[in-house]
Amino acid sequence: MNFEVFVLGTSGMMPLPGRYLTSAMLRREGELFLFDCGEGTQVSLKQLNLKWKKINRIFISHMHADHVTGLPGILMLSAQVDRDEPLYIYGPKKLEQYIESSRKILDMYINYEIIFVEVEAGIIIDEIDYTVEAIKLDHTKLCFGYIFKEKSRPGEFHPEKAIELGIKMGPNFGRLQKGQSIINDKGETVTPDMVMGEPRRGRIFSYVTDTQYITTIAPKVANSDLLLCEGMFEEGLEETAREKKHMTVTQAATIAKDANVKTFGLLHYSPRYSDFELRALRSQARKVYPGTILTKDRMIFEIPNDEGNVIITKEKTYKPRFERIIVSS
Ligand SMILES: [Zn+2]
Ligand SMILES: [Zn+2]
Repeated sequence: MNFEVFVLGTSGMMPLPGRYLTSAMLRREGELFLFDCGEGTQVSLKQLNLKWKKINRIFISHMHADHVTGLPGILMLSAQVDRDEPLYIYGPKKLEQYIESSRKILDMYINYEIIFVEVEAGIIIDEIDYTVEAIKLDHTKLCFGYIFKEKSRPGEFHPEKAIELGIKMGPNFGRLQKGQSIINDKGETVTPDMVMGEPRRGRIFSYVTDTQYITTIAPKVANSDLLLCEGMFEEGLEETAREKKHMTVTQAATIAKDANVKTFGLLHYSPRYSDFELRALRSQARKVYPGTILTKDRMIFEIPNDEGNVIITKEKTYKPRFERIIVSS
């Protein structure tokens, strides 16, 4: 089952050429989950050539313009395909008003059902094979981070062991795999753990922006396969970060280290830093979490099943060409 995270934008506050506003998309078994939606999100989706018009669920961290202004466009263009399934949108209460007023004022044609869910900290989705948890962050506005967690899957079934223990091939194999115990012909009980391997742990993706450094984040995002976390400022600007309720890259890396995450990517960079300058911020973060990745727009993280290593790819840099026409008088 595929589990890929597409970084759609990495900028904080304002979009820059080549750096759209912070947003990410998780694609898992054909389902699409969008995290935040600033202006420019659609452009990245288009550049990645993703069939995104059937996004299943959208999670908004908070009601600041750099995280929501791309939403009306996404809702409008999503109406260009037929869909029976509703679109679920999760976020703070004001998000509902924003969606409703945009719909009205912009006369948006929407041919599908939108189900808004007001977020409170805790498990907000509990499906058969995954959960999504919202965690409260500490920003200038009510703000949530999101943790997408697959449930662990049963271990591998060993039919030869079952046969050895006197279970005949047939429906009892299925029962054992579903967790039921079986009595064999000798009247002995065969339990699932006697014929199954260790349960296989599910994958975890955590998305954390915007927030000041708080110690409650690390335990929540513990053991994530991928943590995407804001790192707005350089080391030494802790005071500025605290005032603006953001983090330095060192603070973000501390969370990654304390949480023992497998892969850690920074995003939501301050527009004051050029791409070149960001490399210095990466070096600062790497003193704390050596594998720190400076995410770039349209970077793709592929998280394989069963403890495989995360594969990172970067879409070829998109270089727009400009033409200058001089109108002669
Ligand atoms: Zn922001
Ligand atoms: Zn913000």
